[in-house]
Amino acid sequence: MAQQTATREDLLTRVRFYRDLGLTEFYRRPVDPELLARLTAAREESQSVPFPHADSQLNSTADLSPSPSSALPAAPLIDSADRAAALQQIRDEMGECTRCALHNGRNKIVFGDGSPNARLMFVGEGPGADEDAQGLPFVGKAGQLLNNMIAAMGLRREEVYIANVVKCRPPENRVPEQEEGAMCTPFLFRQIDVVRPQVLVALGATAATWLLGQRQPLAGLRGRIHAFRGMQLIVTYHPAYLLRDPRQKKEAWADLQMAMRELGLKPPSKG
Ligand code: SF4
Repeated sequence: MAQQTATREDLLTRVRFYRDLGLTEFYRRPVDPELLARLTAAREESQSVPFPHADSQLNSTADLSPSPSSALPAAPLIDSADRAAALQQIRDEMGECTRCALHNGRNKIVFGDGSPNARLMFVGEGPGADEDAQGLPFVGKAGQLLNNMIAAMGLRREEVYIANVVKCRPPENRVPEQEEGAMCTPFLFRQIDVVRPQVLVALGATAATWLLGQRQPLAGLRGRIHAFRGMQLIVTYHPAYLLRDPRQKKEAWADLQMAMRELGLKPPSKG
């Protein structure tokens, strides 16, 4: 009897998991039961540690209030072997998303790119024309600059993870509106919780606003490390801004050096 109850509970857990992912034809999909159990446990545990502002972002268009995020505990760690699958589950759940108006003008959803086990993660604002065409973040001119910044840190792009606040290109590359960010950032937050980098770098004011839950000029957020849900968050300029005003590159490099110190990285030698 006890075994029957356990089996029923297992099945219910599995059905709930699939339903959460929006899958109704789950019985046709072969899934490794062990992986499923681990992801289910991690997902349920992570839902008990909500990401800062996740609910209000979904349900409200009000301005973000000052952030309590630094006080929140870290989400449970997902086994490194399961992270790629966990990211894929998030992507599957997103599907051909029409949750906000940005889907109208997009060509491709730009989910994210890089290592699921990255120690360093960058978060930008949203896709531009090149990203929208290729379905990858930071592949245009700003992306080339970001690649150079990553190389200057002694890393390869494949070693970091890159995502944006919104995953569809805003018209004319405008700043995402409150409702758009509110609909899309829960996916970003789940990506962050899966990758759980040691250092998270917010590229520009939009990323900083949505991650920290506070609107502040960049100057007030740069130059220090924000304790953030078990990670260290550093705010710096968006590469697109650095292309417009290259004088700020020195400041951005100072921010990245701060990240390097936290990661124990040394710049590659020139010889
Ligand atoms: Fe969906 Fe995000 Fe695209 Fe809006 S921006 S349609 S929420 S994927």
